[in-house]
Amino acid sequence: MTNNSSSNDSDDQKPHFVLVPLPAPGHIIPMVDMAHLLADHGALVTLITTPVNASRLQTVIDRIAELRISIRFLSLPFPSTEVGLPEGCENLDDVPSNKLLSNFLQACALLREPLLHHFQRHEDPHPDCIVSDAGHIWTHKLARELGIPRFTFNGFGCFALVCRHIFHFDRIIENMKDDVDTFVLPGLPHRLEMTRSHSPVNFTGPGFEEFRKELMDIELAAEGVLVNSFDNLEDPYVQCLQKARGTKVWTVGPMSLYNKNVSDMVFRGNKGSTDENRCLSWLDSMKPHSVIYVSFGSLARTSPSQLIEIGLGLEASNCPFIWVIKAGSKSSEIEEWLSQGFEERTSMRALIIRGWAPQLMILSHPAIGGFMTHCGWNSTLESACAGVPMITWPHFAEQFLNEKLIVEILRIGITIGVKAPVKWGTEQDEDLVGRDHVKETVSRLMVEGEERRIMREMVKELGKKAKKSMEEGGSSYGNMDLLVQQIRSKMMMKKEQ
Ligand code: UDP
Repeated sequence: MTNNSSSNDSDDQKPHFVLVPLPAPGHIIPMVDMAHLLADHGALVTLITTPVNASRLQTVIDRIAELRISIRFLSLPFPSTEVGLPEGCENLDDVPSNKLLSNFLQACALLREPLLHHFQRHEDPHPDCIVSDAGHIWTHKLARELGIPRFTFNGFGCFALVCRHIFHFDRIIENMKDDVDTFVLPGLPHRLEMTRSHSPVNFTGPGFEEFRKELMDIELAAEGVLVNSFDNLEDPYVQCLQKARGTKVWTVGPMSLYNKNVSDMVFRGNKGSTDENRCLSWLDSMKPHSVIYVSFGSLARTSPSQLIEIGLGLEASNCPFIWVIKAGSKSSEIEEWLSQGFEERTSMRALIIRGWAPQLMILSHPAIGGFMTHCGWNSTLESACAGVPMITWPHFAEQFLNEKLIVEILRIGITIGVKAPVKWGTEQDEDLVGRDHVKETVSRLMVEGEERRIMREMVKELGKKAKKSMEEGGSSYGNMDLLVQQIRSKMMMKKEQ
């Protein structure tokens, strides 16, 4: 933990950062890490949450209170039913269908007024800046009303942010005929062939054109962007992004490295669906680098037929595995299949987790030798930090871009080869990846050989660089320090006026 001298100041002498994450695990988790890092560097932080999300974070909240860390949680009622969402639906992973995405965003935007009133009542120190998820375009107005700068954060890496910028401002999608059209994205340091599905617009889809346009314009009006990445990982793209946006790009990651001990790793983000001690002793019983970890993040729901192909492929690979299953509304179908012999046949070398897994703890264990991932940016970084090579299986959003970075630029993973995005909020059955292909790809990644040796060396090297960037003297450490200092200077100047 850093011990910046300014962290000894009382809370009302510290620069006050208000963090507004999008209520989704992949956005809240890095923002909680960010809150810790900002507090370490001498800031007071208020993280905006809602009752259901706060209860998921209860262990983290209690620990922060116990250790008297300068992080406060402001829980605002989430107007789910007012906008037509089910009662208690306060997180994107609980939204029952993609048709309700705009209702969810609408509910988020209704938080502006209560938040403004809260700070206007002066119950807490006045904020000195907002770090907002880029998806909360309403915080642009809020920041103006409070007279403070707004930084954005949206959980993408620099490579994906640059590509998204070019896709949008060069009107690439509008000029493409269909999904099989390939083209080379202009202005990138590497030659990369893309298709329409590589564009992150596959998440929101049609009907969100106006929203996306406003989001991009408002994002460019921000004071700067905070990115969960580090310079050594994607240096040319940090420069590209800075040039494209014309504002500072603050690389401050990998923020997951804040979590150093097992209990921090376990209680990150959600209540686990498994006993972490059982999970740890299972991992301890496995040979180093022998286990493949299979998980598709927090939002993807895999169809039972695809899950069966994955299961049979893993079984045929003969490789020990941890498999995190999120089947959504079709859970009972897959449970029936698991109980018809699969679990019994694989029990000596498989750990199946239904629901939420302690991912960071698992990836950091020496028994893990590979990660079959959906290429969410947090998962990608967590794997790179742990020195674990990947099998890439993107689903939606910017995950196809992250796959390009992993496979073609960094060369720390191999692709399973999916071409088309899955529609978020559905359990699609099209384009099944068959069991034989799963088996072959797992064997290719996990069996010792030249390809695996080179990949492991590359990813281990990246893991070392990641740690360095977060230590005193490292680039991300320095950026975080500079950011807090910058906001502190503005705060002092305001006080003197
Ligand atoms: N995660 C976890 N357990 C799970 C699923 C996800 O701890 O069962 C964490 C994972 O470590 C990562 C985040 O949730 O920090 C998921 O973010 P990512 O960007 O990888 O994907 P998303 O869920 O946003 O698609």
